[in-house]
Amino acid sequence: DSPIQGTPSWPRGTECMAKYNFKGTTEQDLPFNKGDVLTIIVVTKDPNWYKAKNTAGREGTIPANYVQKREGVKQGGKLSLMPWFHGKITREQAESLLIPPETGLFLVRESTNYPGDYTLCVSCDGKVEHYRIVYKEGQLSIDEDEFFENLMQLVEHYTKDADGLCTKLIKPKLEEGTVAAQDEFSRSGWALNRKELNIQQSIGKGEFGDVKVGDYRGTKVAVKCIKHDATAQAFIAEASVMTQLRHNNLVQLIGVIVEETGSLFIVSEYMAKGSLVDYLRSRGRTVIFGDCLLKFSLDVCEAMEYLEANNFVHRDLAARNVLVSDENIAKVSDFGLTKEASSNQDTAKLPIKWTSPEALREKKFSTKSDVWSYGILLWEIYSFGRVPYPRIPLKEVVPRVEKGYKMDAPDGCPEVVYEVMKQCWTLDPLVRPRFRVLREKLHHILAKELYL
Ligand code: AMP
Repeated sequence: DSPIQGTPSWPRGTECMAKYNFKGTTEQDLPFNKGDVLTIIVVTKDPNWYKAKNTAGREGTIPANYVQKREGVKQGGKLSLMPWFHGKITREQAESLLIPPETGLFLVRESTNYPGDYTLCVSCDGKVEHYRIVYKEGQLSIDEDEFFENLMQLVEHYTKDADGLCTKLIKPKLEEGTVAAQDEFSRSGWALNRKELNIQQSIGKGEFGDVKVGDYRGTKVAVKCIKHDATAQAFIAEASVMTQLRHNNLVQLIGVIVEETGSLFIVSEYMAKGSLVDYLRSRGRTVIFGDCLLKFSLDVCEAMEYLEANNFVHRDLAARNVLVSDENIAKVSDFGLTKEASSNQDTAKLPIKWTSPEALREKKFSTKSDVWSYGILLWEIYSFGRVPYPRIPLKEVVPRVEKGYKMDAPDGCPEVVYEVMKQCWTLDPLVRPRFRVLREKLHHILAKELYL
């Protein structure tokens, strides 16, 4: 595992992750350790050396072949934690997938004869063996001797040891169109080393797992810990979106750890002051003033302008999904539903009060539906974290909004800001302003001190 030769050519600003330790031999060299993140600042004439900067701001020369370029995880293939899982296919289809025979080539399918159970199919000396995996009281087992919590743990066990099977599992037969998530995060430079992450106390509960504070190589970080394999699969999508985005008002992804057992850790920058909605509610109008409210509004708007420019639709913009840093910078988080523009989605799980009428009605998600949500978020900010549409029963919200109803201005909200909210709530998405326009308006309000 020694450095390979190569002649990469990376532009200024390229981020790299160190693959090896580099001690340096001269004063000009920048020493680093495996796992360090470095940013290219000057491309030298010699393609084997770059001038780079580390996260502490120190600059120096680095050898190109000791580092790996960090790039956005590809969105083409479906990233999967279980790329060897083929779902409901027949015994015959499984056998044809395992051709040409190769001892140790395997896949897992849903059992056709025993619904709820699975079948492990392994190629062995030119034949395919089918082992029934029984699901009993929340556990999986082949031999009713060894039990596993999920398929990943089972596969991991038989990868290490045949333990009664005809062979140990050697090579997964990937489902067509899938890519092993572990491999893709490593390839793109986002996989972190579990040994360098120290997970500490819990700081929040998400819908699917704990958010904990941690220490990654001396930096305080937030760690989303997802234990269940099926849930982890959903979070893989979130993490892969985050690898493609970088903006000072988006919560920054630091990296991902995918364990063989199905646990997933998503490591991101630590936001000391928690969610914006809690921040506003707990402090209130005696502590937070107009300049601060406008600054939060602009922070979020700038993040959204960046997403707009890059064709990403957030779909779940709300004050609960904005976090506040130690320096009071508001950053957008929760990219769970974020997609590149133009994909469809199940409307059942949507937050009704934040979602635009056309998105609820026709699943038409666009940057313009994010603008609608942004208007609601502005209302949340200026009402210090109240729940939108107070005193209106949930099932009456949509019919009233469809008829043109708009919330009143929150108490003490400047008229100019209320005007911006109302523009966000324009029923016709084509007439609704873009984030770039909103950002210019808010800047104007800030510069002219119109919020006073
Ligand atoms: P989530 O599952 O992303 O909605 O997060 C649940 C809660 O965990 C949030 O409301 C925050 O209080 C906390 N949290 C999530 N991410 C971070 C972070 N990067 N820094 C600090 N706290 C966080």
